This record gives sequence, C-alpha cells and structure tokens, in this order.
Amino acid sequence: MRDQFPDFRLGNVLATSFTATLTERHGNAVERIPTPQRLVDWLAVNGLAVDSCTTAQLEFARELRESIHAVATATALQDTLPPSAIQIINDCSIQGRAAATLTPEGNRQWRLGSESCVEDALSVIAADAISIIAGERDGKLALCASPTCQAAFFDTSQSRTRKWCDMNTCGNRQKKARFKASHRKTGTGTPTGTT
Ligand SMILES: [Zn+2]
Repeated sequence: MRDQFPDFRLGNVLATSFTATLTERHGNAVERIPTPQRLVDWLAVNGLAVDSCTTAQLEFARELRESIHAVATATALQDTLPPSAIQIINDCSIQGRAAATLTPEGNRQWRLGSESCVEDALSVIAADAISIIAGERDGKLALCASPTCQAAFFDTSQSRTRKWCDMNTCGNRQKKARFKASHRKTGTGTPTGTT
C-alpha cells in the first residue's frame, strides 16, 4: 500500500532532510509527503513519532518546509532573508513543546509534549533549521548544482565544495549525463572501423 508513494530522501541533517520531502522543485516536482500518513511515517523515521496527523497539520508542515527552503536558499545565496518565511519558522519553533532527553546509551532522543501534536515535532525541525541558518553548526548551506533541483543542503565536507544535495540521485544523474555526452563525442570523433 505504501509502496505507491515516493521514497524519502534521508540525509543526516534534520532540517534539510525535511525540505527534501519535496524534490525537483525546478523540474517535475515530486511530493514525498503527499498524505498526512506519509508525514507521520517521515516523522517516525526521524525520531519524532506522532500518532496522527490531520490535513491541516500536513499543510502547516508544508508551509514550514517551504519557509525553511526559502530562508536556506537566501542564506546560501547571501540574499536578504524573506521576513514572512522567518516568521513562520519562528512561530513553529515557539509553538511546539519538545524536550531533548538522553538515552542510557548516551544518544539524544526527542520527547514531544504530546504524541498527538504534530506541531511539537515541527518545532524540533524549525529549531534545527534555525541552528544551521544561524551558522551555529560546522558546515555551510549551499544549493544543489542540478538545474531542476537547486535544493538547499548543508555541506559539511572539509573543502565545502560539495555540488549536489545527494550523490545517489542528483550527483549520479549528472555523472551519467557527462558520461553519455563524452561517449557521444568519442563516438563521432573516432568512427569505427577506421584503424
Ligand atoms: Zn539535488
């Protein structure tokens, strides 16, 4: 049943994994949280389990997502940050209740104020976005070099020269396109049977 929905693109940065639930924003966009249940699934995978989600909450989540995308993109481009998007991120961060707890193994685990409250989970995502946008973490916001993607991602590579949001998708596609192009060139340049 769930197989009919697009897979999640999971990275190790919560806020940009969340913005990656909509991909190919400048091409044929793929919505990876098309239903409230898929948002519930995504939150569970990311350690923010809630037991239900309404359509209104899904819409609210998408509003936060696009706000994070807008502010992260402006940050990567060193543009002025859009005030309305900042407002939404701040509202989300303030509204939700969530506490960081420590597991016996020494890992961080989020305890939401209420498991029926998607807003609590969204506040964790909003706070994560704030920390990367504010430059509190080691890394740099950048935009994917794929023209149809242009997703904002958090580059933690030593040289800060990562080009693609995801090596397995955008990076791989680019590599394949380059390979094809060079193959074509070689093909016309050296016709077969001339040696
Ligand atoms: Zn990309």
